[in-house]
Amino acid sequence: MCVTKLSTKSTTVPNKPFENYLELLKIAAAKTSIESDKLKIFSEPDNIFETNIEFKLDNGEIKTVKAYRVQHNNSRGPYKGGIRFHQDADLEEVKSLASLMSLKCAVVDIPFGGGKGGVQVDPKNLSRTEIESMSRAYIRTATEAGIFGSNKDIPAPDVNTSPEVMAWMLDEYESIVGHSEPAMITGKPVEIGGSKGRSYSTSHGGFFVLEHLLQQYLDDKLPADTTIAIQGFGNAGAEFATKAHKHGYRVVAVSDSRGGSHCEHMCDISHLNNVKKETGSVAVNSSNISIITNDELLELDVDILVLAALDGAVHANNADKIKAKVILELANGPVTIKADKILEEKGTVVIPDILANAGGVTVSYFEWIQNRSGDQWEEEFVNQRLKEVMVKSAQNVFETANHHDCSLRTAAFILGMNKIIRASELRGRK
Ligand code: NAD
Repeated sequence: MCVTKLSTKSTTVPNKPFENYLELLKIAAAKTSIESDKLKIFSEPDNIFETNIEFKLDNGEIKTVKAYRVQHNNSRGPYKGGIRFHQDADLEEVKSLASLMSLKCAVVDIPFGGGKGGVQVDPKNLSRTEIESMSRAYIRTATEAGIFGSNKDIPAPDVNTSPEVMAWMLDEYESIVGHSEPAMITGKPVEIGGSKGRSYSTSHGGFFVLEHLLQQYLDDKLPADTTIAIQGFGNAGAEFATKAHKHGYRVVAVSDSRGGSHCEHMCDISHLNNVKKETGSVAVNSSNISIITNDELLELDVDILVLAALDGAVHANNADKIKAKVILELANGPVTIKADKILEEKGTVVIPDILANAGGVTVSYFEWIQNRSGDQWEEEFVNQRLKEVMVKSAQNVFETANHHDCSLRTAAFILGMNKIIRASELRGRK
């Protein structure tokens, strides 16, 4: 296949997330028979679209911001990945996230490649109408450059983008192409073609993986005896807390960017959800809850630490202080490569992002199928299929780790890389 270079930016700019990713590829290749010349499939994205977009502010001024779409690899299917609005979204970050999407889709065996989009902006400084105007400008500019399409590249929500933003983007896209095409974007509101169960799919997918792997690592400890601390109380973290609590696990601490709550025996998650709604934070002082910092939460003596906030939360300087036996990465890249090594030496099990948070893209795939067939699946059916995919993928990663005597992260990389290499070879790509 002929790959069009929309722009060829240097890939040698030093930047941690992409450097980390390249290092992880090398570690995985060294554990298996993957030849080093195959690594170039993964180290260079197929296409980089980098542009400036303009949109109108409420005061009539025009604002210009940087915008990206990276299409990493489509040997297993169309590019797939979210769009984030964040002040730190730069090319290196978007590139690393697009690359991880290729591997993530391969690990859970859904027929997509990897892509990612970003707009370098702090949306907290914009009004709702300004965010709509920016969302439409992003999709318009990229669509006019031929980026998106239901068989080509399918975006979705990511940090600071929502079903509402997806609805605006779909509307703008369809007004340009002149036909209805709901499968060009996922994570939409259910009323306009979104899938039931998509809103909590990342956290539920992570929960299914965790439950399956706990049988291997925590000797069938009962949920009521299993303690959990969760960093991040947004979409992924709060939904995970609710699910774990419902299934009888002892969630003992949660936090957000403003601090955390450490509960005496077990947190009342619906109470903390209400506290968050009322005060903007989960950090609350009461008779049986004490306020803790995010650093303190990370270092709590719990069975499971769920990372659902930022990348780089566990790093070389705090990895040694982590006491949890198992870490679940619901966020993308929350454990740095240096921390990973320290944790591995300590015997901490890290369930890697490309497995742990793949539930979101899995239900996005279900949404894409539903849109293409004009069908709508019942919520129970979505959840049942999600569970099947996640449990099977967790088992595959676990067996690969045992076979190669390596970490779950390296095993997930080996699985994903081999599937992508095979697809490239079958297509005769060099
Ligand atoms: P979100 O914006 O809804 O929530 C993020 C949470 O992290 C908020 O509670 C915020 O207060 C908290 N936070 C921010 N800075 C923090 C800090 N320094 N310390 C502690 N908490 C902090 O985002 P989300 O959708 O829940 O995504 C969280 C992570 O999960 C991101 O890395 C995202 O890429 C990843 N992820 C999310 C999905 C999904 O479907 N939502 C899918 C795959 C991966």
